[in-house]
Amino acid sequence: MDLSILIKTADFAAKKHKDQRRKDSLQTPYINHPVGVANIISEEGNVCELEVLQAAILHDTVEDTDTTLDEIEECFGKNVRDIVSEVTDDKSLPKMERKRLQIVNAPHKSRQAKLVKLADKLYNLRDLCREAPQGWTAERVQEYFLWAYDVIEGLRGTNEALEGELDLIFKAKGINKGKKL
Ligand code: NDP
Ligand code: ZN
Repeated sequence: MDLSILIKTADFAAKKHKDQRRKDSLQTPYINHPVGVANIISEEGNVCELEVLQAAILHDTVEDTDTTLDEIEECFGKNVRDIVSEVTDDKSLPKMERKRLQIVNAPHKSRQAKLVKLADKLYNLRDLCREAPQGWTAERVQEYFLWAYDVIEGLRGTNEALEGELDLIFKAKGINKGKKL
């Protein structure tokens, strides 16, 4: 039962993201990202709660496709809707304000939402370590790392393994903002 629900969730996200690509030079299909985020949570975070894995797979559908939260609730229930809602930025706000709010709001998220956010940032930072998106200067990449560090600060105390992996990346980039890593 859980497996068929998970497959249904992956199928839903794959259809929603079907025309989107990541910002890398290979134009990787976008769906690789949410599936990879769910995999980080289960394999590296050692968390196999169905609703957390579903929310990870769905985490960018509302922000980046025509999917609505009502649709998520109808297909996958209220708990999944609530986690997805928590990890979805308000797109009516200017980009910089959305980024500021991610830092301010991170500590107040539920444990499930924090897990999705930790894995999402870990996946994106690993992507950025491999290759800067086309058109990004080294300065922009560095700014992204610094901002991600501030978001992660508000998510700590949630999953030791994921936070440890993030710390390895920040350490390699020389980012510690006065803290001992
Ligand atoms: P963006 O928010 O524009 O892009 C980062 C996001 O892109 C990630 O959080 C990730 O989100 C997604 N993504 C897709 N492919 C990749 C990939 N291969 N590697 C990493 N992330 C990927 O970046 P910024 O936060 O830097 O920019 C914010 C705003 O500021 C933008 O509007 C930009 O145009 C503007 N800007 C910023 C500059 C700067 O120096 N920071 C310079 C010029 C403009 P997800 O998890 O949702 O896929
Ligand atoms: Zn994402």
